[in-house]
Amino acid sequence: MAYKLKEAGYRNVTIFEKTNYIGGKSDTRYHRRVPHEMGTVYAQPDYTEIYRLVKEFDAGNILPMPSPTVWVNKDQPTPISNLENNLQILATLRPDITDMQSAVLYIQQALGKYAAIHAQMFGSYEGELMPRPSNDIFSQLNMTFLEFLRVHDIEVLKGLITSAMTAQGYGHIDEVSALYGLMWVTPRFLTAVATPPSPEVKSVVKILSKGFQFLWAEIARQTNLDIRLSNPVRKIIHLPHSNKFLVKYWKCGRWYRELFDFVIVTPTMKYMSNIITFPPKAKEMFDKAFNYYYTTSLVDTDYGAKRGLTPQDYFTYNINSKEESAVWVHRDSYAALNYITDSNYTKGLFPDGPDGQFIQSSVYYQFSKQRPEWATLTRKLKDHVLNTEKVTNFKIKERTIWNYFPRYSVSDMATGILWDIFDLQGEHGMWYIGSSVSFESVKSVVDYNNLLLRQFLCNN
Ligand SMILES: Cc1cc2nc3c(=O)[nH]c(=O)nc-3n(C[C@H](O)[C@H](O)[C@H](O)COP(=O)(O)OP(=O)(O)OC[C@H]3O[C@@H](n4cnc5c(N)ncnc54)[C@H](O)[C@@H]3O)c2cc1C
Repeated sequence: MAYKLKEAGYRNVTIFEKTNYIGGKSDTRYHRRVPHEMGTVYAQPDYTEIYRLVKEFDAGNILPMPSPTVWVNKDQPTPISNLENNLQILATLRPDITDMQSAVLYIQQALGKYAAIHAQMFGSYEGELMPRPSNDIFSQLNMTFLEFLRVHDIEVLKGLITSAMTAQGYGHIDEVSALYGLMWVTPRFLTAVATPPSPEVKSVVKILSKGFQFLWAEIARQTNLDIRLSNPVRKIIHLPHSNKFLVKYWKCGRWYRELFDFVIVTPTMKYMSNIITFPPKAKEMFDKAFNYYYTTSLVDTDYGAKRGLTPQDYFTYNINSKEESAVWVHRDSYAALNYITDSNYTKGLFPDGPDGQFIQSSVYYQFSKQRPEWATLTRKLKDHVLNTEKVTNFKIKERTIWNYFPRYSVSDMATGILWDIFDLQGEHGMWYIGSSVSFESVKSVVDYNNLLLRQFLCNN
């Protein structure tokens, strides 16, 4: 946003950042000379604007991410692919469909139906937030994503959606609003996820060779943004006489204050209510948001006796069990970046890093609805790694517990709350941006910024 504003001619743009790094939830840690993503990691076909930025700022290579291995139960002797998982789901829903050709056709028909309903409800649009749907459409969406799939007789898509949505921490489909589902899982994305890899397109999901944090840091560096690191904002006060904002921030143990004409708030709005007095209508909406927690741990292990087909594992039995802080996902960063798969991966026939060592350094994801205890996370992670992956050496190197996916309930979403927030943009000299007013992905945040800029600056 700051870069786009500078481009549009605003010269006095200042960013206050609480932490000592640029990137927020894009947090890449180097360990054994390999970038490990503790936050933002994947991109998919809807990431046009992000891909454009990566190229514009020469922020590394866009690499294919090997598709996940799926573990549907704890004692499963051999892993299965994402495609096999979807066929198994189909077999439970439609036992009458027995041959492969009919199964694939059935899934394709469901995809076509999904695309047709999406187009009929929202038309074609640019970016993440579609134009405000009609009240009639909202009333048809006052339900969870699973209910939506059932109403339209396309529940067969739930395996694909679990990997495209739930595994990313975007909610169980029997809990999350259908509207969030339809915003994130566009027909284009879903069709791409369902398409088997080919020699030309190994994977539709991409990762960045230097990590996402590098992208934001490069934008800041190349466009010379004024970023005040380790400067948390503690208070923002609107001064009615001058119509300016007094920003109080903390720096090296002292308070500082500066005046600004316009404020753009980016962290989760609900938590900013202590810092800034929002207009009552906005505050009322922001207060309705809630979030869960996604914890990422960077762990060193040996190769383990039970490995997936690819350097990424989805433990769907843990995802479906909804057990607090269970391990959902594993990603071996070096093997992912180097597309090491199949027997090379399964048999551990490669050193897992440029240092030549046969140590596996991976990021594990644990999902919790309540803020998790550190010790509980460690106990559950250790139990998983030692007993499921049959690893003998285990060392946690880093960990972050993230407030994840600030969101609204099914019924709030069906009132059009995201569009009501959008309608308040610019009033009272403020913009509200970031994932809490759109969706928890860098694509969503950047697309929302562009929508605002198109609407208000007309030159984007
Ligand atoms: C584990 C994990 C995995 C993810 N995977 C993906 C993925 O694969 N693909 C994808 O697209 N997205 C992914 N995301 C989501 C994506 O990272 C976020 O949606 C996006 O970064 C949110 O951007 P934001 O600007 O809204 O918020 P943030 O990135 O959280 O930025 C807000 C910034 O505000 C700062 N701040 C807060 N309070 C103050 C204050 N008082 N004063 C000054 N500064 C303050 C924070 O320190 C932070 O830097 C993932 C996130 C996590 C945590």
